[in-house]
Amino acid sequence: MYTESLVKLGKVRSEIREIFEYGNQRKAQIGADKVFDFSIGNPSVPAPQSVDDAIIDLVEHFDSVALHGYTSAQGDAAVRNAIAEYTNQRFHTTLTGNHIYMTCGAAASLTIVLNAVLQKDDECIVFTPYFPEYGVFMERTGAKLVEVQSEQGTFQIDFQNLDAAVNEKTKAVIINSPNNPSGVVYTEEKLKQLAAFLEDKQKAYGHPIFLITDEPYRELVYDDTKVPYMICLYDNTFVCYSYSKALSLPGERIGYIAVSPKMTQFEDAYAAVCGSGRALGYVCASSMYQRVIEKCIADTSDISIYKRNRDLLYQALTEMGYECVYPDGAFYLFVRTFGQDAHVFCEKAKEYELLLVPADSFGTPGYVRVSYCVQTKQIEDALPAFRALAENYR
Ligand code: PLP
Repeated sequence: MYTESLVKLGKVRSEIREIFEYGNQRKAQIGADKVFDFSIGNPSVPAPQSVDDAIIDLVEHFDSVALHGYTSAQGDAAVRNAIAEYTNQRFHTTLTGNHIYMTCGAAASLTIVLNAVLQKDDECIVFTPYFPEYGVFMERTGAKLVEVQSEQGTFQIDFQNLDAAVNEKTKAVIINSPNNPSGVVYTEEKLKQLAAFLEDKQKAYGHPIFLITDEPYRELVYDDTKVPYMICLYDNTFVCYSYSKALSLPGERIGYIAVSPKMTQFEDAYAAVCGSGRALGYVCASSMYQRVIEKCIADTSDISIYKRNRDLLYQALTEMGYECVYPDGAFYLFVRTFGQDAHVFCEKAKEYELLLVPADSFGTPGYVRVSYCVQTKQIEDALPAFRALAENYR
């Protein structure tokens, strides 16, 4: 009676949500401070004061009907212009508001773009480890998701594996840097190589291959790490941006798509984004939060807290004998499991009240994701449990 694939999707929670729900039950049983929940990527750092100030200012001074009313389907023109201008200042691009489409977060940005470019039997490449929802976002296009294994250990792009996977059906490639779940940031050298590789393949197959950059973690980088802006390196790029993590606003659902000005048949590309947004019902992102973004365009939440967490966790776990990928960005530590089976390892971790996510569904068995966007005290309190877990395997 109902669409079977969607009934199925609605009944199975993602593995991350399963663990998160288990954590909530466990906290109710034994107390929240006794459970070390590293499962979900929900920022614990509050949004900056400027967000609250902007909301108050808008409520007090902005026309109430306009504030809560519909904007244009693709977003308010002044907001889109402000995003374009800010991006141009940062990356020397030539965007205008007409290259921007406001969305309710990266999930919507990705679903819109994937549905705009993918058709039945097309192939879309993702690099392991990758965000498992990509498969869900593209499911109704009938296109195939193709996993390409990244370089062992570094989790940078492996061009031999990529070359073996690309063929005439390849229509799109998704990159996510800083990466969930590895924390890896692709180097500029690798990204230039990717751009040149895709240029060659476009020529060879005689059709565009779209690069879709999934960027909720762009601002979450530590030390001097740089995240190259792909519109500067590759013409057929769609940027899927979100303020969920950068401004700690995941529940407010706000982000945007930037379509490269040099995109093949740009007008049709932007129209396809608008049409896809319309078909999916993603028109007019939150009117109030669009205006909040306009006021807080250059702000982020306090990223130094994540850096402190990263340093603490990485150092402590490596000293205990865990093999960890060094994360230059995002707020995840990717840890090799003791023993082959990440599910078995995570079950064992639960005995110490440590909630970790097995990375099998990210396409990388033998690893777990430790989400460190938590209070620093939770990490400090959890260290004896991590130590006991490691000792269990000696
Ligand atoms: N892409 C990646 C890699 C993510 O980690 C997430 C959320 O955790 C999303 C997309 C979705 O982000 P949003 O909350 O902006 O929809």
